[in-house]
Amino acid sequence: MRVMQEIIAKVEEKDPQQTEFIQAVTEVLDSLDSTVDRHPEFVKAKIYERIVEPDRTIIFRVPWVDDTGEVRVNRGFRVQFNNAIGPYKGGLRFHPSVNLSIVKFLGFEQTFKNSLTTLPMGGGKGGSDFNPRGKSDAEVMRFCQAFMRELYRHIGPDVDVPAGDIGVGGREIGYLYGYYKKIVNEHSGVLTGKGLEYGGSLIRPEATGYGSVYFSAEMLTTRDESLEGKTAVVSGAGNVAQYTVEKLNRFGAKVVTLSDSSGSIVDEAGIDAEKLAFVMELKNVRRGRIKEYAEKYNVPYYAAKSVWDVVREQNLPLDLAYPSATENEIDAADAQALVANGCICVTEGANMPSTLEAIRVYQEAGILFGPAKAANAGGVATSGLEMSQNSMRLAWSRQEVDRRLRDIMKSIHRAALDAAEAYGKPGDYLAGANIAGFIKVAKAMYAYGIV
Ligand code: NDP
Repeated sequence: MRVMQEIIAKVEEKDPQQTEFIQAVTEVLDSLDSTVDRHPEFVKAKIYERIVEPDRTIIFRVPWVDDTGEVRVNRGFRVQFNNAIGPYKGGLRFHPSVNLSIVKFLGFEQTFKNSLTTLPMGGGKGGSDFNPRGKSDAEVMRFCQAFMRELYRHIGPDVDVPAGDIGVGGREIGYLYGYYKKIVNEHSGVLTGKGLEYGGSLIRPEATGYGSVYFSAEMLTTRDESLEGKTAVVSGAGNVAQYTVEKLNRFGAKVVTLSDSSGSIVDEAGIDAEKLAFVMELKNVRRGRIKEYAEKYNVPYYAAKSVWDVVREQNLPLDLAYPSATENEIDAADAQALVANGCICVTEGANMPSTLEAIRVYQEAGILFGPAKAANAGGVATSGLEMSQNSMRLAWSRQEVDRRLRDIMKSIHRAALDAAEAYGKPGDYLAGANIAGFIKVAKAMYAYGIV
């Protein structure tokens, strides 16, 4: 569709170095082509052009002092992408690879994901090129305080509500929130992923992984399949990966891989509850490397290999794939290996883990594909539930939050399927999720006039 191609070309021309952002815009706009004829008003009001431009981008200096007394300087980001349907909402990522392109891609995707959850949340994302690896708790605390010293003036419970992402877990949220509370002198729901003692929600740590498994269960049902007895491959060993493994085990599937940025392990006997407890202690408390799993349980470790390299090179048989580490983990060759080795369903726990070429391979093979903005929306949905509990000044039980999470994942699945059907792309979850997420935001933007 010419309208879309022109917009993608303009984005490429304006920011040619922002490759991840261009990739995300291409993925979304390609699947919105069928909305153009139905909504000439969106074309006239230039909604498509406006939606690819963030409301604002904040970039700031983060100076802090390390344990040796040396001054360090990092760069901080907050991209407030779109608040048409609610306050900006999206995580903070601390990782050396963080740059404007990555934060923009994440904020853009977040806008549609948040819309899909049915909760009133706009899209934003932020972070820093700070590397928490190898830093002491005191250094992480000083960094978080320095980061919040600038961020606090841009956020608020009705303005922008950040959460965690890669490198930002419970410890970092505690330091960030503690400092915000100190300087603003306000105890409010300005961050999500908080500890239970100070406004957090039960099930929030589990929500992205659990939600991703719930979403895959819904997809499998459409083909009269279930998770029980299936072999699953999971990448990453962080928050999303851990709770994906936990829920897959509960559904009777067997998980045979995990990874971190140093390498991957394969455990053909399955990562059961006891082994998962070891991983959680290793990664969340001791902050060690996944290699230790291989040493403890005497299973193969593949240094400097991703899970997808291992599937490809070792011909690892599998039924289900849950990429849960980072963006662009799976390229076309990896996707071909997945299909050749028996994969019937790819569920994206991470954000944009599949390249555009990999997605084409899934689509041509006709396997089930749950795109990130639908499949991993359980995390932000539960953040939305945390915001509701903070506003009402009450706390729901574990069962209550889990029930709401499961219902939300079911309704996201249904919304994606229905939109795909209504716009002539039956069974295409990628198009369906993009269209369903887009229409709500676009209608709100249209209602506001040119602002
Ligand atoms: P964590 O920091 O808890 O874990 C990330 C895991 O992925 C770690 O095992 C890490 O290895 C590995 N990893 C990170 N970057 C790379 C890389 N460049 N190459 C190889 N491995 C890498 O993050 P989360 O689990 O929270 O996030 C994982 C993904 O899920 C991200 O894409 C995130 O955006 C997405 N997501 C997270 C949500 C959440 O609620 N947490 C919500 C929705 C999406 P190492 O241990 O070596 O650092």
